[in-house]
Amino acid sequence: MLHYVSTRDADHDVSLSTALQEGLAPDGGLYVPEHLPELSPAAFDGCDTVETIAERLLTPFFDGDRLEGDLPGICEAMYGFPVPLRELGRGTNVLELFHGPTAAFKDVGARFLADSLARLNEDADQPLTILVATSGDTGAAVAAAFWRKPNVEVVVLYPKGKVSDRQEKQLTGWDDNVQTVAVDGVFDDCQQLVKQAFQDETWNERKRLSSANSINIGRLLPQMTYYAVASLRHWRTHGTRPNIIVPSGNLGNGLACLYARECGLPIGEVVFATNENRPVTHYLESGTYEAFETQQTLATAMDVGDPSNMERLRHHWPSAEALRETIHAERVTDEEIATQIERGPDAWGETWCPHTATAAEVRDRLDPDDAHDWILVATAHPAKFPEVVEPRVGHDVDIPEHLAEVMARSKEVPLIEPTMDGLGEAVFASEPSGSA
Ligand SMILES: *Cc1c(COP(=O)(O)O)cnc(C)c1O
Repeated sequence: MLHYVSTRDADHDVSLSTALQEGLAPDGGLYVPEHLPELSPAAFDGCDTVETIAERLLTPFFDGDRLEGDLPGICEAMYGFPVPLRELGRGTNVLELFHGPTAAFKDVGARFLADSLARLNEDADQPLTILVATSGDTGAAVAAAFWRKPNVEVVVLYPKGKVSDRQEKQLTGWDDNVQTVAVDGVFDDCQQLVKQAFQDETWNERKRLSSANSINIGRLLPQMTYYAVASLRHWRTHGTRPNIIVPSGNLGNGLACLYARECGLPIGEVVFATNENRPVTHYLESGTYEAFETQQTLATAMDVGDPSNMERLRHHWPSAEALRETIHAERVTDEEIATQIERGPDAWGETWCPHTATAAEVRDRLDPDDAHDWILVATAHPAKFPEVVEPRVGHDVDIPEHLAEVMARSKEVPLIEPTMDGLGEAVFASEPSGSA
């Protein structure tokens, strides 16, 4: 059986199912696999689709768990869309992680978690209620993933007027088991309400509460499959290990890439591309970890001043020296992001989203004679960020069909004051009172 341990206590070990349901360890640490399995490229012989590669990779991570027999079904449920790796020329490839329902890489982690939690709660008397505070993209991915799944329900809180028009449309098109509430406040008010609900007696009597935030190991494991798929395709065609540039903020996607490499997948160098937020580059340069105030940039989904996955990185690579031998990190300014978006169509024939543009900038910083193959990770579709992208490429960006479908369902949602009374009224209004 593969156990999962807390980053703060190696003696606290739990099963995969427990780690998925708890999210955070009771001591406040993050769950990590006790050890990483070894899988050579040959272990994937006969696996050609994303679903079969995912199943092969994740099998040892499910070893001995209640969900072991469910893994093939979970892999089917988390994909169902392609993961293209396209050659752009000059030794450069782009890995498109935006073909899921909300057009960003977070879909696959959210779908894995939704399907796993639905299965774990199959026989529960009461559905599991996931509370999410969102400043945009995570809430949309979680809502889409849990929508109409049995035995789970979701309440999404977002700050009214603080998310873009298009983001709001992605948050408000749900019904049945997914409820969205607009809060007259800022993101921190939403997060505060979620915290209060977890401590509130009435809420805990009436609901079985859980979270689906980005620190859940259930968001990380499925993301490893992206890097298995990409590196195996490259390996099978070229026989070489590609270097990979991952646009990074909270460092979950980058860490998933490192896990895949540790397992034995044919991956060369891994570079974290960050925006102007400097916790990672500062740590690697100075050797001292410092949290920074979060700075707003054009690549908003990467605006993180104190990335939670740093705790996992420092657990596996305890010194700055060890981490320096593992990754490179490059910081990219807003001006450089803007220039990359502008140049994308001519230089590469690509319209970059602001996050992917950081990877393109890192690619451009390389020696022009660099002979390695590089994979730029495209974390979102550019149509998610029209305000940033369209003026710089000089035309509208077509919205992918699946995203247009999500947005077309958008409707009025309740707007509440940032109080527990307001939240209670919005959420319990539709239910018979006096339970518990
Ligand atoms: C979340 C996100 C990122 C950052 O990913 P981390 O796992 O937090 O490092 C990058 N790009 C997009 C589009 C995202 O939504």
